[in-house]
Amino acid sequence: MKKSIVAFCLFFLVQVPVSAARDIDFVDIGELDRSIVLDIRYATPNNFTGQAVYPAARCLLRRDAALRLLRVQEKLAEKGYRLVVFDCYRPLSVQKRFWEILPDERYVADPSKGSRHNRGAAVDVSLADSAGRLLAMPTGYDDFSEKAHRDWKGASPEALKNSAILETAMKAEGFEPFPAEWWHFDAPGWEEYPVSDFPMKKTGGCED
Ligand SMILES: [Zn+2]
Repeated sequence: MKKSIVAFCLFFLVQVPVSAARDIDFVDIGELDRSIVLDIRYATPNNFTGQAVYPAARCLLRRDAALRLLRVQEKLAEKGYRLVVFDCYRPLSVQKRFWEILPDERYVADPSKGSRHNRGAAVDVSLADSAGRLLAMPTGYDDFSEKAHRDWKGASPEALKNSAILETAMKAEGFEPFPAEWWHFDAPGWEEYPVSDFPMKKTGGCED
């Protein structure tokens, strides 16, 4: 029953004209798609803080950004790839913790301005094969060095090729690549969404 409601909602949404008022609802990628690999690093100690800062490994996004990401996954699947998601919505309170650890705007957005992740309109992604195994990329996630920059050509040909496949697929659905991080993409219209700070819960709805 729940699945059919989701399917109906999705059907309805794709019929909405582009000019309609922006829908600011959050949706859960894990509920809409099982083929995207959720590797939510901030729900584990495997991130630059060394601590699990989310209580749940969920990818929450504004609905328009989520639907775009699903289309990216659909197209990548046709070529034998799967999207891997490292981070989506990030509560502002978590952004403040990041800023205390690394107050450098080249790598962490100043919480007084808010990160695009705080708006639920940015994703950190990578690429896996059809079995979900991570493919080579120029660096690991959250490598705060010039090796993660999109114009850095020192990576292996394999890593550069994979990064280019990911970037091309994301751009085709309107995502904007961030020059200093091969994994970060902003959803179109990110600036129209408010900064949010509801906690990342294990289950249930997004903002209630
Ligand atoms: Zn990011």
